[in-house]
Amino acid sequence: MNLRQTFLFANSFLIFSCMIEKNSADVVIIGGGVIGASIAYHLALRGCNKVIVLDRGLQPGEGSTGKATGGFRTQFSTEVNVRLSLLSREKLLRFNDELGIDSGYRQCGYLFIARSEHELGALRAAQVVQRNVGVHDVEEVSVDDILQINPAVHPEGMYGGTFCSIDGFIRPLNVLRGYMESAQRLGVQFTFDVECQGFTLAGGRKKIIQVLTTRGTFNCGSVVNAAGAWAGIIARHAGVEIPVTPLRRQIAITHPTTVLPEDMPMTIFVEDGFHARVRDGRVLLLWPGEIPYNDQFDITFDTAWLEGVLSRAHKRLPCLKQAAIDEAHCWAGLYEMSTDKHAILGRAPGLENFYLANGSSGHGVMHAPGLGHLLAEVILDGKATTMNIDALRPTRFAEGKMNEASEFL
Ligand SMILES: Cc1cc2nc3c(=O)[nH]c(=O)nc-3n(C[C@H](O)[C@H](O)[C@H](O)COP(=O)(O)OP(=O)(O)OC[C@H]3O[C@@H](n4cnc5c(N)ncnc54)[C@H](O)[C@@H]3O)c2cc1C
Repeated sequence: MNLRQTFLFANSFLIFSCMIEKNSADVVIIGGGVIGASIAYHLALRGCNKVIVLDRGLQPGEGSTGKATGGFRTQFSTEVNVRLSLLSREKLLRFNDELGIDSGYRQCGYLFIARSEHELGALRAAQVVQRNVGVHDVEEVSVDDILQINPAVHPEGMYGGTFCSIDGFIRPLNVLRGYMESAQRLGVQFTFDVECQGFTLAGGRKKIIQVLTTRGTFNCGSVVNAAGAWAGIIARHAGVEIPVTPLRRQIAITHPTTVLPEDMPMTIFVEDGFHARVRDGRVLLLWPGEIPYNDQFDITFDTAWLEGVLSRAHKRLPCLKQAAIDEAHCWAGLYEMSTDKHAILGRAPGLENFYLANGSSGHGVMHAPGLGHLLAEVILDGKATTMNIDALRPTRFAEGKMNEASEFL
């Protein structure tokens, strides 16, 4: 072999070894939304930095994370969800110091408004759970209190409610960016524009050894499914069924307006889930009304839905009659619903090295800090130690032991 041939051989060997190295990781995370990024960061923080995050979007936030309104609340009706919120809140409070980016956490509060004894009863029962777990800032409020907290609300038909001052808002894309950039600084590789299309299983189909993608094969020690509303499809590639289905949610946005203040608490009517908040000088209106669809992953904004949301908005917050809707900027996105509306967190049944962080059911941004921390513990220590996550175990559906949340929160 002459000198040139030796050089070419050595060079191609080097390129080949780099490719092997580049396409191998201790952990491959599928999905670079806020949950995948949080898991990557928490793994790297613990010294596990041979981590690759794969996302088919062209840039961060193209999944549900970029579509979220950015609500944060501790007002849930089950202990595990309240604890997840408290763990996440601890992390949000020191987010800027730890990660150098403002998470946007503003404690403007969440105001739940009941219009019947039945609805108030559900809020009261949830309040007992919240207080038992350590949320001391939640209080029951009378109709007069409600009008003090949010003077824009029309009092007709109001019965009472609850208010929690530590609830409020976060910036979903800031939280995603904070985790992603810090994980990258710790050595994690994020690759966009790459789609996971399957897995190679070995050991009697009990172990994933390769992730098959549109950009080749990635060798892996473990795999995390953090694919949001698409998690069911990813799990099926590994022969695992998880009860996660997409649910389209729409947001109406007004043109810039001053009819409501920027620090107005999130204001939610328990009866039908209609809620409103102000973000960057515009009002966001949400209402989980039925939207007909052919394709359950479709996120086209359905303008017919506007009539229902606006009739509610104008009755309940009459000043909104003066705020025109900016139809061109209204949008839709997907919730990742699990059967009992709770996250599915832990190792997938039947596989040694496949982990799930799915099914947050519309609360995934606010719970991402806690979910990332806990799944890193499961992967590195064999179980979560910071809090008990038994209620989120993936096997609960097959066992017939699902969580029982209130119908309202
Ligand atoms: C209208 C709306 C309002 C919301 N408001 C709130 C709120 O106020 N507070 C809150 O906490 N939550 C809210 N949510 C829910 C929140 O957005 C989700 O719970 C959260 O973003 C889930 O994060 P994720 O990382 O799991 O999912 P995603 O952000 O969807 O990330 C999953 C990623 O997986 C990638 N992916 C999928 N399939 C593949 C594949 N085959 N190969 C490679 N990559 C793949 C996608 O590209 C995507 O980027 C809202 C959601 C919507 C739609």
